[in-house]
Amino acid sequence: MGLIVQKYGGTSVADSEKIKNVARAIIKEKNNGNDVIVVVSAMGHTTDKLIKLAGEITSHPTEREMDMLLSTGEQVSMSLLAMALNDMGYKAISLTGLQVGIKTENCHMNARIVDIDTVRVKQHLKEGNIVIVAGFQGVCEGNEITTLGRGGSDTTAVALACAFRADRCDIYSDVEGVYTFDPRVVKTAKKLDKISYDEMLELARVGANVLHPRSVETAKLFNVPMRVRSSFKTDDLGTLIIGVKEMELIKPVTGLACDSSQIRIVICDVEDKPGNAAKLFNLLASKNLSVDMIIQSYARSSNNTNDIAFTITKADKEKFDEVSDEILNILNASNIHIDEDIVKVSAVGAGMIDRPGIAAKMFDVLAKEKINIKMISTSEIKISVLVEKQYANQAAIALCKAFELDGADVADVKGDLPVV
Ligand code: ASP
Ligand code: MG
Repeated sequence: MGLIVQKYGGTSVADSEKIKNVARAIIKEKNNGNDVIVVVSAMGHTTDKLIKLAGEITSHPTEREMDMLLSTGEQVSMSLLAMALNDMGYKAISLTGLQVGIKTENCHMNARIVDIDTVRVKQHLKEGNIVIVAGFQGVCEGNEITTLGRGGSDTTAVALACAFRADRCDIYSDVEGVYTFDPRVVKTAKKLDKISYDEMLELARVGANVLHPRSVETAKLFNVPMRVRSSFKTDDLGTLIIGVKEMELIKPVTGLACDSSQIRIVICDVEDKPGNAAKLFNLLASKNLSVDMIIQSYARSSNNTNDIAFTITKADKEKFDEVSDEILNILNASNIHIDEDIVKVSAVGAGMIDRPGIAAKMFDVLAKEKINIKMISTSEIKISVLVEKQYANQAAIALCKAFELDGADVADVKGDLPVV
């Protein structure tokens, strides 16, 4: 007998009929002779609706009260699911993060899990229960309720799978697996049978909106195999996420993702001397502004200055505006240029390690499309370019073709880029 952790996303439990379907899928796993721990998200768009509701009351809710509010969404779906299972004749019990003992850091709205108490859940399993756990929530010092950041139920599921040494962690949602690119943009994008943790991590970070990046980080650390699969097609095995060693790498690029959530900032004419970059990024860090791509240009000998460009998320623009004058002052820079209509297009693949020419090929494809590259950054398994928003779909389609990421040669553009 094994132990399986299953996670069902908001669309899978969006209404009572869907909750009953999920209950049937859980029963199937239970009848295979396995113990089952289930993690649920809030029903449908509940979390968004709760955030909107808070916004109607105040523009500055405290983070503590936001956690009190948002954690209720998962409590609705978990209890309904337990009732559905009971009604079908199965023993089931739902538990909040506090009741399980999911301990997190002492911070609100984006807390990390630090420990999971296994005693209570083990006891319920031993008594033959299917245990349903509220996703996305935990508890910190003083029994204060915390949440793990949007999409955090994936991380609850993987953390439970690690704590209970589960045989598998199945993440069910409305997508059938991980695709080479967003199938809403390139209809012929292919579903991957397997992807490595590292590749999935890069894709999750650069905008493939499939999994909470921290869930993949945790799965990698504890070597728990994860499956992304559809709750509407439970016979389909979806995509398996495993260690790179267990994979055979054939293609240099495994997947592509577009991230339209960033803006580019250029600090112009910063004197080329030790300490200026430190001053700038320390100031940004002190305001909790997280920075992604960073480029410092070659110092021009005429006036001994260079430009420092970087990207931040759109959501942080207001915070940046609050410190922009201070930046100009401390760096004695001439001005700050902000570019909002940009998209980061990234190609990810563990197969690009030690394989020359992949970046050249990517730039070649964009050149043939006459798309200008505004910024480039790379890691061992990723090449990202910043392009103007209007060219992002065109770039993605051309790159899908060039790196053989689509199943057919007809790529279909559908409207604007999906919001990531
Ligand atoms: N309900 C939370 C959200 O919408 C957590 C989750 O779905 O994973 O972000
Ligand atoms: Mg989700």
